[in-house]
Amino acid sequence: MTEIIRARYYPYMPPALPGEGDDAYTDRLTGADKTNRVPYDHRRRRECSIGYHGNCSDPKGEDCKCPCHSFKWVQFVEENTKSLKTRRWGVLAKDNGTKLGEVRWFSQWRQYAFFPEPRIVLAGSCFIDLAAFIKAVMDARRKS
Ligand SMILES: [Zn+2]
Ligand SMILES: [Zn+2]
Repeated sequence: MTEIIRARYYPYMPPALPGEGDDAYTDRLTGADKTNRVPYDHRRRRECSIGYHGNCSDPKGEDCKCPCHSFKWVQFVEENTKSLKTRRWGVLAKDNGTKLGEVRWFSQWRQYAFFPEPRIVLAGSCFIDLAAFIKAVMDARRKS
């Protein structure tokens, strides 16, 4: 049996087990299968467990300790990138949902970077969130 490594798993999803179907994977992530093989090392609500971070029933992260709630000023929403080799996230202001830009792969630098919308204004605190997110993406990439 494959060992379950408990970790933060954000923004990347935990790996599926060999031969694990979609339903079994979902049930394991949420704990619905009652086998105690949830891969998270912290409490998560159902929505965050299955990667629907924007729909979490605890958006302030008071009970749900998913790392997506640790950003104070911005929210990252994954965009559908099925046709691309790399991933892409929209960056939204948490208070009013304004799109600030995107985090996506920048091939010249071989790393993920922030691509701002024109004429946006960012305070230093937003850069702290952005830097933490990009670091999490790059760390997960190196490990995988
Ligand atoms: Zn989450
Ligand atoms: Zn959550």
